[in-house]
Amino acid sequence: MKRFLLLALLISAMTLTAQKDQRIYDIIDAVSAERIKNDVTKLANFGTRHTLSDTVSNTRGIGAARRWIKSEFEKTSAACKGCLNVFYQKDLVKKGANDRIVKDVEVVNVLAVQKGTKYPNRYIIMSGDIDSRVSDPTNYTDDSPGANDNASGMAGTLEAARVLSKYTFENSIIYMGLSGEEQGLFGGGGIAQYAKDKGWEIIGIFNNDMIGNIKGVDGTISNVDFRIFSEPVPPTETEKQRKARRFYGGEVDGVSRQLARYVHKNVKQYMPEMNPMMIYRLDRFGRGGHHRPFNDAGFPGIRIMEAHENYTQQHQDIRVEDGIAYGDVLEHVNFEYAAKLTAVNAINMASIAWAPPAPTTVKIGGIVEPAAKFQWSKVDGAKGYKIYWRDTTSPTWDYSRYVGDVSEFVLEGIVIDNYFFGVSAVGKDGFESPVVFPNGIFR
Ligand SMILES: [Zn+2]
Repeated sequence: MKRFLLLALLISAMTLTAQKDQRIYDIIDAVSAERIKNDVTKLANFGTRHTLSDTVSNTRGIGAARRWIKSEFEKTSAACKGCLNVFYQKDLVKKGANDRIVKDVEVVNVLAVQKGTKYPNRYIIMSGDIDSRVSDPTNYTDDSPGANDNASGMAGTLEAARVLSKYTFENSIIYMGLSGEEQGLFGGGGIAQYAKDKGWEIIGIFNNDMIGNIKGVDGTISNVDFRIFSEPVPPTETEKQRKARRFYGGEVDGVSRQLARYVHKNVKQYMPEMNPMMIYRLDRFGRGGHHRPFNDAGFPGIRIMEAHENYTQQHQDIRVEDGIAYGDVLEHVNFEYAAKLTAVNAINMASIAWAPPAPTTVKIGGIVEPAAKFQWSKVDGAKGYKIYWRDTTSPTWDYSRYVGDVSEFVLEGIVIDNYFFGVSAVGKDGFESPVVFPNGIFR
């Protein structure tokens, strides 16, 4: 009896693992809190990384910081026989571009591109920010360690490059250090324009901004909660698309939201100890981040960050006031937590980079019929396709059916009115593209 039980347990364990990929667990294990600690410390010790700060010194200011970041990416590349193409992308921003640009400045981003073997022009991106600030956004000389905001996201990006560069992927991955965030999202704006000019097909960007604080200003402490911000629909949608949403749905199903659901689902599957919180908004109330310029350009993008912020440790002059120690200093960063959120990024970039492209066209039909019907454009490299659906009030794709290598399917007994639907492409190793919400209808 005991032996039978063991056997049954073993079989159920095998069927469970059969749906997963060991490489994803290896990636989670490979992320090092120790290396992230070293990198955050190094970045904080540049004194200030304000976008307008010194660029000549080798020890202080944003120039020293970006040269060091570039050299770290180059080290990572050297360890994988030059698998990363590391370079600067820069734009001159003129004094007066807004009231935070008090002198002409070259906004310099650092990129490390790991080319995909099959779809080199398709990119999944992870970003952190190089720059920091204190209370006065134009103060570019005082100490501004920005340990959490955003050395944590930058260090996570450097670490993700170290971990993922050990593998090859079909799609390209970019690890990015962005500047000018605190001055008005200039670095992200520059890259989004650069990507458009180059004709890059951006699958999505994971903007990591503050991934190291576990104790909220309200006293809440959690090293498993984190937030995934995504806007509902692209700001670039046309009037025609907006009108169609009234009749066919899609208010909460834009491309960035699908990316958020992808991350949420993958984390639930591979890191069940974590608590991903999908937040249905572009960013925090009235606040911004570097995924926005990508969204503005029509690219999918989300913000991944801690769940519990501490405002006495953001954008603050280092000081003690009424017994409260203000400032974004090293001692408040939890490196184990930053490593977990880095792993969240890494496994999702790997999953997407190993997956085929999503179908570009997905049509839905079934008006006044007892079945929902689908047609989609096939993609190169897919083993098959999966239809997803959910109750209209559910945030997650709760039901799915793998339908094989076909380009149309009828879901018998599923009434179109009562659910939202989507289709993903599935690759030979089981990795899936993000879900595509129907973008056309048929009778
Ligand atoms: Zn900030």
